[in-house]
Amino acid sequence: MTRNDLIELILLFTYLTLAFNSIIAVGCILAMVIHELGHAAFFKIYNIKIDKFKIGFFYGYVLSNKPMSLTCKQELNLFFAGPLFNFMTICACFLLGTFFPIVIEYIAPLMAASLILFVTNLIPIGGLDGGRIALSLFNKFNLNKKILLYSEIVLISAIITFVNVSFGIFLFAALVFSIDLFLDESCIMKNPRGELPHTKV
Ligand SMILES: [Zn+2]
Repeated sequence: MTRNDLIELILLFTYLTLAFNSIIAVGCILAMVIHELGHAAFFKIYNIKIDKFKIGFFYGYVLSNKPMSLTCKQELNLFFAGPLFNFMTICACFLLGTFFPIVIEYIAPLMAASLILFVTNLIPIGGLDGGRIALSLFNKFNLNKKILLYSEIVLISAIITFVNVSFGIFLFAALVFSIDLFLDESCIMKNPRGELPHTKV
């Protein structure tokens, strides 16, 4: 780990601690480390030399400078290992929380971060693990790469649309809720018996 890597890690920790708290910061970073350890484990299993293991500001990677000559199955294992380790973390946290409920508040952020990493990394787009898995499969079955590109564009558009629509629904709900609150408030103000409006804190 170089000095810059360490600075980047400290920055990430500080940012997450300030934005949320230190338990969430540790949970997020730990989930990223576990994800990359999953890939690293399979680098070791396939005797690929690891030149860099990096956890950066909201990203991480395991790098080998040597060109890889892996079978399709080995490639799939290597790419899937990261999300798999996140999934195993979720299971471990779930068991731990079930038997020792007292630790739930400490492991919940790790569990949530692992779930987010598991789901997002399996989206079959570009440099994400899911994208690499899709590319491996396309290579194996000799499919036209253009189809992969087009399906990725469709998928990205679908995700953007979904996010926008959900955000729109959220805004609409917030608007309805605030109008409701406003009406509530003005009714209390106009209370004919002249009672004081309730205290809202
Ligand atoms: Zn990964």
